[in-house]
Amino acid sequence: MPKEFDLIAQYFTRPAPEKMVGVGDDCAIFSLRSGHDLATSTDLLLEGRHFFSDVDPYLLGRKALAVNLSDLAAAGASARACLLSLALPSVDEAWLAGFSRGFLEMADAHHCPLIGGDTTRSLDHITIGVTVMGEVPRGKALLRSDAQEGDDIWVTGCLGAADLALRYLSGSLELDPQRLQASRAALENPAPPVSFATHLPGMAHAAIDISDGLAQDLGHILKASQCGAELMLANLPMHDALRGLSTDLQNEAMLAGGDVFQLCFTAAATQRDALQALAEQHDIVVHRIGRIVNGSGLRVLDQNGQPLLLAHQGFDHFA
Ligand code: ADP
Ligand code: MG
Repeated sequence: MPKEFDLIAQYFTRPAPEKMVGVGDDCAIFSLRSGHDLATSTDLLLEGRHFFSDVDPYLLGRKALAVNLSDLAAAGASARACLLSLALPSVDEAWLAGFSRGFLEMADAHHCPLIGGDTTRSLDHITIGVTVMGEVPRGKALLRSDAQEGDDIWVTGCLGAADLALRYLSGSLELDPQRLQASRAALENPAPPVSFATHLPGMAHAAIDISDGLAQDLGHILKASQCGAELMLANLPMHDALRGLSTDLQNEAMLAGGDVFQLCFTAAATQRDALQALAEQHDIVVHRIGRIVNGSGLRVLDQNGQPLLLAHQGFDHFA
């Protein structure tokens, strides 16, 4: 790309924070605080697969980093820095201005400076790769494999809204303007509980962020922890955008809908009050939706205690 260096300088270069080497050298360099482990994660966003071509580039910039911060949150890690790789079919200045503004705004808000990356021309579509690095007190990272029998199962935020917007935008569901606006905001501007999550190590046992659907993502915890779970349908925090829709649609959106970027975590019952207080301090909502049981697999119980049959559990990229 002829203007590669100009483009990096114009849109993605900020003075490196103190004691860090950022954009402009072969490697970015920084130190972890002593007594901490490095937590790192990477995600690819492909045009046409993970985002629609006409999505607002500013919101896309925010989301590209937010989905990665969501992975750090699932480990209970706090963000330190990020890397951004872009493959662009052409240099679209308006797109770059919006995207970089959204990305860097999210980076500033979460003290996660952009310290490097790669930029290249692609054949046709946009590909966005983001890597985040965070730190977590040594040996204390939250894993999928630490759920214990008798644990409560919690979720942050509300469920189902992003799925409604996805159905609308892919043409399979009609929505009134109000519902559309609320659900689109959930899909296009996710807000993972980043600062809340940094307090979970020591309080929670296992955690995962909900990207492919609650049932499927909780399923990963169950498999890794070799246990089962019971969820109470009535306790699932339904997003307001779902009110008044058919029960089947509500249940499917809450249980199988992806792109949520909230956390599902397990904790001992002794932590209930402390977790509620922590959520209030961080201005988020948490709901206790079920418990970890002996055995395997997920059972969702309706108001009458009858198990619900799940038609499909979530999004599978290779299905
Ligand atoms: P190299 O050839 O050593 O890989 P590049 O020419 O690709 O270096 O990149 C020059 C500098 O710009 C490097 O410090 C790299 O990390 C940074 N950089 C490239 N693209 C981006 C981007 N999209 N966002 C942030 N930094 C970037
Ligand atoms: Mg390079």
